[in-house]
Amino acid sequence: MKFSFKAMWNNKCPNCQKGDMYKKPFQVSKLLDMHERCEECDFDFVPEPGFYFGSLMISYGISAWMLLLPALTLVFYFKWSVNGAMLFTILIAAISYIKIIRGSRSLYLHLMARFAPSTWKAGTSASKYDKTIF
Ligand SMILES: [Zn+2]
Repeated sequence: MKFSFKAMWNNKCPNCQKGDMYKKPFQVSKLLDMHERCEECDFDFVPEPGFYFGSLMISYGISAWMLLLPALTLVFYFKWSVNGAMLFTILIAAISYIKIIRGSRSLYLHLMARFAPSTWKAGTSASKYDKTIF
């Protein structure tokens, strides 16, 4: 399965790159409401229970570096006050929150589909299709 940055960025299915990962219309109260399977090609978006725990690390890494570097630059290069830089950082975090939290799931799914396709094979130990465990 080929990795597509465009499909990842637009939260599309990694398999067919057409189906949406998230349900529409967008609701703030249901931020991470996903389809179980792709509407176009039936690709399984939740191959294992707790599959998206790994995306927390991606979300953390992206948001920490995305916020830390501008804040440090503002304080040490542009001589902003710490409170001003903190306010700016909080504003950027609030604006980018939804894109990062959804995008990290999308990136995780795309990376796993590209580099660990065995996740989707039935009979692997953590697969939800393995009825002897669950
Ligand atoms: Zn699909």
